[in-house]
Amino acid sequence: MSAQAPNILVVEDESSIASFVSLYLKNAGYGVRTASNGTEALAQVAAQMPGLIVLDLMLPDIDGIEVCKRIRQTSDVPILMLTARDEDVDKIIGLEVGADDYLTKPFNPRELVARVKSVLRRATPERRERESEQIIHGDLRVDAGRREVRVAEEEVQLAPKEFDLLWELLDHRGLVLTRDQLLERVWGYTFAGDTRTVDVHVRQLRRKLGEASPIVTVWGVGYKVSPAKDSRKETTKA
Ligand code: CA
Repeated sequence: MSAQAPNILVVEDESSIASFVSLYLKNAGYGVRTASNGTEALAQVAAQMPGLIVLDLMLPDIDGIEVCKRIRQTSDVPILMLTARDEDVDKIIGLEVGADDYLTKPFNPRELVARVKSVLRRATPERRERESEQIIHGDLRVDAGRREVRVAEEEVQLAPKEFDLLWELLDHRGLVLTRDQLLERVWGYTFAGDTRTVDVHVRQLRRKLGEASPIVTVWGVGYKVSPAKDSRKETTKA
């Protein structure tokens, strides 16, 4: 077992779920601590920051969303949320809460381990490779170094995965990327995962970017970026 294997904090009040999740993570080589409510989770995080947190949404005292928000005030520690309801997903992975990924109950513990691995892999600073790279597409300006997106000079706040997804699509202009390819490139999944994750993020991007969103659905296949329209010139000509 590697001495570098990160410590994972599992926050879950249902002891049966907490113990099987812990078991699978331990078998995968991680050190595991548990907390059975939000107060305990925050105390553990304050005492020693784990390498990743698996955080249940429904907790008896402070709910998982509030716990996540409070942790995010001081830390970028990767957080994987467990939820029983699909409708929470937009909020959980959006800027408002800021989790890195989520799983809907009931889930396959092997999938949980795969997601933990991928979230940890994405959390390592490989993003710096893109430093100072910029993509300009129509009215859209995406700065990878600053992780900034502007529409006609106005900054648009994107959640981390929304940013990565937009970048991936823009970086492959002219190509259609399938949902599975996007999952692999943006989330690091190396198997066919839950492709709704991609759709949820595309929906958020379209909402936030409005008419500047370049993302086109290719029915039955995936997504691509529409050709940049040089809007100002076109308007002048028209
Ligand atoms: Ca629970």
